[in-house]
This record gives sequence, structure tokens and C-alpha cells, in this order.
Amino acid sequence: MNLEIDDLYNKFQQFSIDLFQDDLINWFQQEKRSLPWRENQDPYRVWVSEIMLQQTKVDTVIPFYHRFMERFPTIQALAEADEQDVLKAWEGLGYYSRARNLQNAVREVATVYDGKVPANVEELGELKGVGPYTKGAILSIAYGIPQPAVDGNVMRVLSRILFITEDIAKPKTRKIFEAAVEKMISQEDPSSFNQGLMELGALICTPKKPACMLCPVQEHCAAFKQGIQEELPIKSKGKKQRTIPYLSVVAENEKGELLIEQRPEEGLLASLWQFPMADATEVTIEQLAYWFKLEYGVEIKVEETLMPVRHVFSHIIWEVIVLRATVVDGEVPDKGQFVSREDTVNYPFPVPHQKILQQIHVSE
Ligand code: SF4
Repeated sequence: MNLEIDDLYNKFQQFSIDLFQDDLINWFQQEKRSLPWRENQDPYRVWVSEIMLQQTKVDTVIPFYHRFMERFPTIQALAEADEQDVLKAWEGLGYYSRARNLQNAVREVATVYDGKVPANVEELGELKGVGPYTKGAILSIAYGIPQPAVDGNVMRVLSRILFITEDIAKPKTRKIFEAAVEKMISQEDPSSFNQGLMELGALICTPKKPACMLCPVQEHCAAFKQGIQEELPIKSKGKKQRTIPYLSVVAENEKGELLIEQRPEEGLLASLWQFPMADATEVTIEQLAYWFKLEYGVEIKVEETLMPVRHVFSHIIWEVIVLRATVVDGEVPDKGQFVSREDTVNYPFPVPHQKILQQIHVSE
């Protein structure tokens, strides 16, 4: 079924938008969780929170958000910060391009817009990393402008309420939901309306077993009336994640320093730091010392195997065999650098390499 916008509007013939808005907004005002980014509606604070909340759960984001706002409390502070410090503050949150894009966009706001986050669709939408969802969230929450902010959560909730059966895994489906929100959104309080939909998706209209008996908009919900709420939304399965095996080496010199290197500026985990990693489909454990000498110009002796590390990214899985080695020859590596164990805290490491670091520190 291909739902055109006219068909969507037909769904509103039997639907009381006013009552729906009242029920949703009243519930939100009474039940909303107290979250740090709701303390005020400063556009920069809203912006940072929305970027952090992409692909990351609220509970995980809260401590990162506090730390980030302490470290970079203003647009100016973030614009002037060193990128490595920003990545360090983001360390552990994943999807590091979010942090880099945020800082680039904030720098543009500082220079082009005199430090004030633009309050219109066009200018805001041109900033790096500000997609339709983030744009709508900033405009509605910080500026009270009625714009849709549609993410997977909102699509799930509205697919049930309006009985929309389009595949939400397809990018173009978002347009249908944006059109629905444009029709439904409160002109008086778009901030509470959009946040109410998000909060409903987080607390009541959850992916599995939605709590329909507690739902403030149950009487407006088409899926509930038909008892098919758990069959919606329609979402086709994405591609299966590919597993990549690696060998990672923690090489220690006689001063007790560890060899680390910075990842390339582009691509996955760009510019973060790591222990050297070899593709385990090309290098075996027996060949590791030879590979290391070729790559880093340093001779090592493999001492022991540590706990393996597994990390699931959105589209790939790393399975890392971790080895501890001592350096037997070579003071200055061709690539990377030796740093003391204490100094490793000053470098941003992605989560899989933080797990390796933890093992090293525990075994000290
Ligand atoms: S009634 Fe159930 S399915 Fe419908 S919006 Fe409420 S929680 Fe979701």
C-alpha cells in the first residue's frame, strides 16, 4: 500500500485534532521526566541533547550531557575548543562524527550568526549534522515554532495512532509522518506537542508491549481500537551486520610506555586513538611480530593473550583478539607514539579500545 498525502488527510476526518493535542499536552505537562536539558530551553542546550540522543538512550546520555555542558557551557566555548578535547568529552558515546559535526556547525554559528542559533528552517537545516529531526526539535522546543520533529520513536507512535502501514525503514516514509505532524501539531505549544510524542514513545507506546491501558491518547488510537498495536509499525529488516576479526597489540617498552596511534581523519572512529590493530583475515598470531616490525618499525615479543573484545557498531561487528607484547627493539616508532599509562587518559579512545585499556589498568 502506498499512502499518498491525500489518503493521509482522509484519516483525519474522524479524528479530533484539538482533543488529541489537549490529551497529549496535558499528559506531558504532568508526567514528563525531569531531564537536564529540560531545565531551560536554551537552543544550544537543546541542540547538544538532541545530537547526543540520536542512537543513544536517555539514561546513557545524562552523565555525558552533564560533563559536556560543564566543559563546553556555551557556543563560544565549544567553537574555540580543540577537537581532541571535544572527542575526549564524547568518548564512550559512540558515533563520533556527531561530535565533529556538532563542533563544525557550532563554529559556523559563532562566526556567521554571531553566536546565535538560527531560528529558521533554511539556515538551521544547512548546518552540518542538523537533519530534519534535529532541526524540528530545536525550532519547536527552543523557539516555539511549529515544525515536525520525526524520528523512529515518533513514527512508531503515529503509525499506531493513525494506522499508517508504510515501511518506516524506508527514508521517504518520514515525509508522510512529517505531513501528519504538520497537520496535528499545536500552534500554541509545539514544544510540548513534539516532546509529548517523544515522551509517549519512550514511556508508554514502547516498541514491545505498549502500555495502552495507561495511554493518555488511547481513545484516539486506531491500532488500539483494532487490537493490532503490536503489529505496527511496519519495519523491514536492514542488512545483517558484517563481522570483522582483528588482532590488537598492547606493546609496552622498557619504560612502561604503551604504543598507541591515531586513526585516519576520515571514516569510522575518525581521529580517535587506538592500540595497533591487524586485520585477522590477513595476519595470524604467528605472523604478528613480523607485521608489527613492518608497520611500526618496532620489534616486539608477544607475551600473552588478554580477554578478547567484541563491539557491535550499527553496520559491523569487531571481534578483537588482544595480545600483550614487550618491545625488544626500536625506541621511536614509524607510526603512532609511546605514551605512559597515566597519559592514556588524555587521548580519546573508542569503546573497544577503552575495554582493552581497562584490562591493562586492572592488571597493573
Ligand atoms: S493506545 Fe497503545 S498503541 Fe495506541 S498510542 Fe497508546 S500506547 Fe500506543
